[in-house]
Amino acid sequence: MSTAVAQHRPLAPEKFRDPLVTARGETRATVALASLRTLWINTGTLCNLTCRNCYIESSPRNDRLAYISAPEVAAYLDEIARDRLPTEEIGFTGGEPFMNTDLPAMLADALGRGFFVLVLTNAMRPMRKMAAALLALKVAHGARLRIRISLDHYAAPVHEAERGRRSFRPTVEGLAWLAREGFAIDVAGRLLSGEPEASLRAGYAKLFAEIGVPIDAADPVRLMLFPEMDASRDVPEITESCWGILHRAPDSVMCASSRMVVKRKGAERPAVLACTLLAYDDRFELGATLAESSGPVSLNHPHCASFCVLGGAACSR
Ligand code: SF4
Repeated sequence: MSTAVAQHRPLAPEKFRDPLVTARGETRATVALASLRTLWINTGTLCNLTCRNCYIESSPRNDRLAYISAPEVAAYLDEIARDRLPTEEIGFTGGEPFMNTDLPAMLADALGRGFFVLVLTNAMRPMRKMAAALLALKVAHGARLRIRISLDHYAAPVHEAERGRRSFRPTVEGLAWLAREGFAIDVAGRLLSGEPEASLRAGYAKLFAEIGVPIDAADPVRLMLFPEMDASRDVPEITESCWGILHRAPDSVMCASSRMVVKRKGAERPAVLACTLLAYDDRFELGATLAESSGPVSLNHPHCASFCVLGGAACSR
């Protein structure tokens, strides 16, 4: 086992081609769906912002993933009920979910069926326009509705370098509004600035104190700090033997416990993907229903290595 980190070299073209074997002929790792704990709904890729490095390329023009409708989502919730799946949480991501006018109906449906619901948002104008509906859902369902606000950095320059001018203050104001109104909230930040994590968390803690947000910035669940993803950078492939070498269980990877539903532009019906990270790679589209998508996932993408499994250490070159 080498613990060297593959840095800044371009991805070798022979890697991540065959779903069964790696470029070196080793058996590629797969992940079985242990149990569908979280079902993600992609509400559509349209967003009010164009971030420099959005993993799903959301923008005011990208509608490759169309707005999904409340009846389409209801069909998946019906399938969960019919097949008695162990799903606990429905997550909504985009794009900016609050730009989909069906979002309140989808949230009400999922909450009404007893699920925990998580919504990822930039907390800007699209969310504020749905304030009345959000407040009503909070009154009816309390903390079963959680909102995770994307705030890339605790200070405007880094956040706006990624998200565009005049994007920081509206998000901070939206975050403060959610806190004031007593919503269950978390914050998702990023490791964009290259600062040590302790320094980042201290910066967020100061901001939270200033604007009255009751989040412990030292808590890695309440303030998640995500690494950057770069599929063009060379990374090792993940083999079956990696699990033992890295002391990682396949069940610890997101596709062991979740799937994401998307509605591709022009498609007749939604499709189920292996995870939230690989929306445009057909190899990770598993079927039209949850039953069809319950098979194992081959870890045949650089994100599988860099984001999910390795976290910096390599088990093979
Ligand atoms: S990126 Fe790969 S390993 Fe990670 S959740 Fe998606 S399919 Fe699974």
